Amino acid sequence: MYDFSKQDPTIWNAVQKEEQRQEDVIELIASENLASKAVRAVQGSVLTNKYAVGYPESRVYTGNEAIDVIDNAARNRAKKLFNAEYANVFPHSGTQANQAVYSAFLQPGDKILSMSEHAGGHFTHGQKHNFSGKLYDSYFYGVNPQTELLDYDEIARIAHEVQPKLIIAGASAYSHVIDWWKFRDIADEVGAYLMVDMAYIAGLVAGGVHPNPVDVADVVTSTTHKTLRGPRGGMILAKRQYAKKLDQAVFPVSQSGTLEQVVAAKAIAYKEDLQPEFREYTKQVIKNAQAMAAVFKQADQIRLVSGGTENHEMTLDLNATNLTGAQAADLLYSVGIATNKELLPLETDDTMEGIRVGTPTITSRGFDETDAATVAELIVKVLNHPNDKTQLNEAKMIVTELTNHHPATR
Ligand code: PLP
Repeated sequence: MYDFSKQDPTIWNAVQKEEQRQEDVIELIASENLASKAVRAVQGSVLTNKYAVGYPESRVYTGNEAIDVIDNAARNRAKKLFNAEYANVFPHSGTQANQAVYSAFLQPGDKILSMSEHAGGHFTHGQKHNFSGKLYDSYFYGVNPQTELLDYDEIARIAHEVQPKLIIAGASAYSHVIDWWKFRDIADEVGAYLMVDMAYIAGLVAGGVHPNPVDVADVVTSTTHKTLRGPRGGMILAKRQYAKKLDQAVFPVSQSGTLEQVVAAKAIAYKEDLQPEFREYTKQVIKNAQAMAAVFKQADQIRLVSGGTENHEMTLDLNATNLTGAQAADLLYSVGIATNKELLPLETDDTMEGIRVGTPTITSRGFDETDAATVAELIVKVLNHPNDKTQLNEAKMIVTELTNHHPATR
C-alpha cells in the first residue's frame, strides 16, 4: 500500500492496526474472507477517479474506453462463473442488489414471502426495520421446530395462504443445502416470482459444491465479498428475459455512478474463482466446517443447531452454558477467536442465544481439518470454562501458534 502515514497518521495507523488484527485473530465470522492482493490493489487504483454512468452500450459521460473493457469483462466472467444468461455487476452491495430486484418485480405494498430472521434469513428480505419491510407486505417461513431444517410442505402451505408476488429463498445463517427446485415448484403453484439470495453460499455455488440456483430461479442476487472472495459489493444474475427491467432497476432507478475500482476487483475475483484452485478451496471450506461440527456434536453444554452442517457455517445453541451469544462472542474474542452472536430458530425473544461460526477465512489462510478441529476444541474449552484464567491463557497461546503458522495475506 502507498505510504500515506505522514499525510494522515490517524487513518494510516488504524489501517496498520486492522492489518495486524487480521493476522492475529482466528476469523470465524462466516460472512468474511480474505481478498487477494490483486483484488485489493485495483481498489486503490485510478479507477476511483472516473465517473462511469450507464452501461457500456450507452454512457452518460465520455472517456469510457478502458471502463467498457472492465465492465464487459466483469459481466462476462460473472455469467461464465454461474452459467447465467444475464449479469449485472454494478450493485454497490448485497442490499442494493436486493433493492433493485424488488423495484424491478414489485410495486410498493405487494406481498413477499421469505425466511424469518430467527431461522437464519436476512433482514433485507422484508424485516420491518428495513426498507424491504416498510415498502412491501412481508410474510415469513421458518424451520421445522424438531429438525431445525426447512420444511417445504409447510412453506408451500404458507405460500398458498399468503399468495405472495415474490418468494425469496436464501439465508445468512442456515447450514444445509437449500432445495431450489422445491422452491421453484412452490412459486409456480402460487404464481409467484422466485428470487434466490445466495450471498452466503455464492462461492460454494461457483466452486460446484452447492447446487446452482441460477437455472432455477427467476433472479439471483449475491454479495461478492463472502465465500466468493471478491471486493465488498453486490451482483444480480437472471434469465435473459428480465435483462432490460433489471438493468433499469439498477441504473437509473437505484444507483447513479458505478464504483469502477470495485467492478474491476469483481472482474479479478471472478477470474480467480474460475480457476481449479478455487474449486479445491471450496471443498476444503466444507471439510473444515464438518471437522468443527464433529467436535461440537460431542461437546458438553453446546448444541449444534440442526445437528450438523453441509456448507461453510453452523450455529451453536449456548443455553446450557448460561452465556448469551454476545457474552460468548466477547469471551471468545478475548482469546483471539472472532465469532458473532446469532438468533436461534426457536428463540422466543431477540436475546440471541447462540453464536455462528464459519470457515471461509481460516480456509483461505490454509487451515486444514486438523487445525479446524483444534479451533472447535478451543471454543468448547473457553465456553465451558469462562472464568478459568489458565484455560483462557492456554487457548490464547494455541491461537497464536495457529495464526503464526498460517499468515492471513493471500
Ligand atoms: N443478503 C444476505 C443473504 C446477506 O447475508 C447479506 C449480508 O450479510 C446481505 C444480503 C447484505 O449484503 P451487504 O452487507 O453487502 O449489503
